[in-house]
Amino acid sequence: MKILVCARIGLDGEINPFDACAYELALSVKDAEVCLLSMGPESNKNMLSSLTRLGAKIAFLLSDPAFAGADTLATAYTLSLAVKIIKPDYIFCGRQTLIGDTAQTGVMLSYNVGFNLITNVMGISHITEDTVSCKTRDEGDMTVSSPALLTVERINTLRLPSIRSKVGEVKILSADDIKADPQKCGLAGSPTRVIETKENTSGRRKCEFITFDRLDEIIKNSLNKTKQKTQNTHTEKKISKVLCVTKAPIEYAKTVSDNIVFCDNNDVDAVIKSIKAENPDAVLFGSDSISKRVSALIAAKLDLGLCADCTALQTDGETLYMIRPALSGSVIAKIKSLTKPAMATVRTNKNSSDIVVSVGYGAKNCIDSIKAFADRYGAQLGASRKAVDNDILPYELQVGLTGKTVSPSVYIAIGISGAVHHIVGMDKSGTVIAINPDKDAPIFDYADYGIIENFQNTFGGRL
Ligand SMILES: Cc1cc2nc3c(=O)[nH]c(=O)nc-3n(C[C@H](O)[C@H](O)[C@H](O)COP(=O)(O)OP(=O)(O)OC[C@H]3O[C@@H](n4cnc5c(N)ncnc54)[C@H](O)[C@@H]3O)c2cc1C
Repeated sequence: MKILVCARIGLDGEINPFDACAYELALSVKDAEVCLLSMGPESNKNMLSSLTRLGAKIAFLLSDPAFAGADTLATAYTLSLAVKIIKPDYIFCGRQTLIGDTAQTGVMLSYNVGFNLITNVMGISHITEDTVSCKTRDEGDMTVSSPALLTVERINTLRLPSIRSKVGEVKILSADDIKADPQKCGLAGSPTRVIETKENTSGRRKCEFITFDRLDEIIKNSLNKTKQKTQNTHTEKKISKVLCVTKAPIEYAKTVSDNIVFCDNNDVDAVIKSIKAENPDAVLFGSDSISKRVSALIAAKLDLGLCADCTALQTDGETLYMIRPALSGSVIAKIKSLTKPAMATVRTNKNSSDIVVSVGYGAKNCIDSIKAFADRYGAQLGASRKAVDNDILPYELQVGLTGKTVSPSVYIAIGISGAVHHIVGMDKSGTVIAINPDKDAPIFDYADYGIIENFQNTFGGRL
């Protein structure tokens, strides 16, 4: 069985962390022939070469000036031409890259090459040349027949090379080698354009420091307050019509149009039928994993630009501008689509409960009292990556760039320092309460209320 792993090499010269997990998963499949596929500059050859030492027989590097500036649609097109030459039984992709952070390319690639698709894979329970069964993050166990593409979550750690390992071949493929249409590659083939980027200050709040005994009162008051759902500004000039897929994106739609129509069925064919019937200026989806998959499949099928995980929308009456965090959340990008309808997934809180109690590494010694505290409020648990990496809570609960996005009415961060990677996963929450003994912890810059406590000594008992 041949498994092709798509591996993006980042600006730091390292393999994208999610792709590293996909590679490790492929290497763990007994008797599989594993190959790597990457698109980028020729300087990535060395990194790919060292990655082959872990077990891949060969790595293919798509490198050509014509591929530069590609968005997800153009990248998926280019990768698909290489896949047709390599002819794998399975393709494993990381769920997303950290640079683009869209989770679209793998899904679009599966459509382009006609492979079955399973997204958000947490592990493989059974794989043969004919079928694969996987545990998924949000949809339980799934089985599909080959050929199939899996997008893999951050579930493992890439092995280290052994001293005796051999270096495999790295084959460079140009646009001519894969017979690419120059109009469909790189910037020319990309229907989305970044208009501007600026430092991401979203989610910053003025923190009022309170004592622990006010915690219950603050939680109750916050639950009664209207949720801060988006930071959109309503504008006079609006676009003519927006199609919302389910009711999830309605608050965003209202900020850019007075004429909102709905498709209640979050299914590729149903949405395409609605697009054809309604001819909207924009189509908006929620940000759950099914919406992300359906929107990317539609974009690939209709050759439309798609912007992922928007946190706000703007318009001048003609063009829709989609605002989203990028580059690990450090910048905010303003993006437009050159194709109509513009398509976007928007961050919504459909699946979040009213309260999320999130545990950081600093709370490692009072996890039982935090669980009891969360139960008392019917709250969902969350976790920082460091808490997950140290086995305090499972990965499914991780909030942030490489975890999930939540936006509950109340987010309580306990023993979390407030790294930008964590903040991008919770900065749309209604009220944020941070509990941390370090008054200078960055989390207080993103909190409405702060409690300065060293709960190693006292807090565990009080929760
Ligand atoms: C590419 C990449 C992706 C990442 N993705 C994510 C992601 O999705 N989600 C995520 O969360 N992180 C992510 N990270 C990691 C992130 O950068 C931070 O390292 C992580 O969020 C820190 O977790 P923490 O706040 O629990 O731990 P720490 O930074 O160690 O902070 C622990 C906090 O606990 C406090 N503390 C210490 N002792 C006590 C005590 N006795 N009582 C109370 N408090 C105490 C400390 O003051 C400190 O502020 C990512 C990093 C990278 C490089």
